[in-house]
Amino acid sequence: MRFLKALSCLLGLAGLASAGEGWKLDESCKTDAIGSMVTDAIQSAFNMASDELDAIDKALNNEDLGENGENIRNVLKWMFMKDGEEPNGNRLGLLRTNLRRLLRAREEITDGDPDDQTIVVYCGLDRFEEREDGLWYDKDIDDVLEKDESFGACKGAEPTVAYVLVSPGNTPSQLQLCPWFIEWMQGINIKNVHKVDKKSVFWKILSKGLVKMKAVLTPMDVASLLDKVILHELTHTRNAGESDDVDGPSFKTVKYTWKRCRELAREGPDDVQRESQVNADSIALAGSAIRFIKEGNEVKEDGSIVKR
Ligand SMILES: [Zn+2]
Repeated sequence: MRFLKALSCLLGLAGLASAGEGWKLDESCKTDAIGSMVTDAIQSAFNMASDELDAIDKALNNEDLGENGENIRNVLKWMFMKDGEEPNGNRLGLLRTNLRRLLRAREEITDGDPDDQTIVVYCGLDRFEEREDGLWYDKDIDDVLEKDESFGACKGAEPTVAYVLVSPGNTPSQLQLCPWFIEWMQGINIKNVHKVDKKSVFWKILSKGLVKMKAVLTPMDVASLLDKVILHELTHTRNAGESDDVDGPSFKTVKYTWKRCRELAREGPDDVQRESQVNADSIALAGSAIRFIKEGNEVKEDGSIVKR
């Protein structure tokens, strides 16, 4: 009996250990079919954030940006600067702080209970239970939610591919990848997408998934879609200072896609709530573009990617 009592105490203590800063894959992502795809994409998203932070640090310190540094510097200007401005602390200082904080959560966590510094990545919706009052219970954060403020977003009319929910209290940032999006990602071969033109089969398949976005997409938007989407969502977490979707939620105005992020930078808002450095897609696209440059491509101002 005493032994059993001691054992339950130990288990109780183990259950109280906090996971802390890092990311955790929910069971719904740990399947043979998608586990490694999602893990690779998360690691790639953090790598992009790291390269972007490095570029910002160097640009702000007037240091050499390395090979093809001019192209990298231009990406920072296209995504964050008003025309004629050089990279400066007013437009990039907050982003630098937020990327630094985000990168402290770069390692995967496998033990402990998620806390407010943990990012939990979900690929399914099975933590939700429908209640009699029509609300939905999320057992992971012990909270009741309206369908539309949670997984309803994955099933709405707009092409939502993923979302982040930051709830009050000691709860993790929940990064939900929409199941339809994961299924769709598995079905397309995104390798070398920047080499295909807009009339190809790929674009036809793409348009089925993101029909409303097709008109405004550039190769930069589509290339490496999953890791870019994850970086976009990571910037919404508590760890990264909860970035915005500027001018959202309406799809007609929200600053998604290279073209619209380019317009937002050019506009050069003085209101910090609308600045490119707090706009999730601007941050994600810059990180993605810098990665493509480091892989030996040239990224152009119109969002096209060409092999050097
Ligand atoms: Zn967003």
